[in-house]
Amino acid sequence: MYNGSCLCGAVKYQILSEPKKVAHCHCTMCQKQHGAAFATYASVKKEDLVYVQGEEYLKSFNSSDTIERKFCGQCGSSLEWGGSPDYAEWVSIAIGTLDSPYEPEKIDNLFKKNRVCWIGEVNE
Ligand SMILES: [Zn+2]
Ligand SMILES: [Zn+2]
Repeated sequence: MYNGSCLCGAVKYQILSEPKKVAHCHCTMCQKQHGAAFATYASVKKEDLVYVQGEEYLKSFNSSDTIERKFCGQCGSSLEWGGSPDYAEWVSIAIGTLDSPYEPEKIDNLFKKNRVCWIGEVNE
C-alpha cells in the first residue's frame, strides 16, 4: 500500500495495489497542467485508489471529451488522470504526490516527440 497527498495536505489518498504501468507523459497537455517537462503517472485499478481525506477539495478539468484531470482545488496539485474509454477500469495517479517510497520496475515514455529540449537525459 502506498500513501500520497497534495501539496497543502488537504487531500490524502492510498493506493491499495501495486501500480501496473508507470510512464512519463510528455504530451503538451500534461506539460501545461503540471507546469513541468512531463507528468509521471502510474495506473491503478479504480477501486484501488482510495481518498482517505479531503476528496471534497478535488476539482476536475476535462482536457478532452472523456479525459478528466483531477487536482486539489486549494493548492493545485495534479492528482488524477482518468476517463479513457479504452481503460475504463483504470485511473492514473501523478506519482510526484506520493509520500511512500516507490520504485517502479520500469518507466515508459509517452509522446516523446513533444519532449522539451531542456529536460536533460531521460531513460528510454
Ligand atoms: Zn492541496
Ligand atoms: Zn500527457
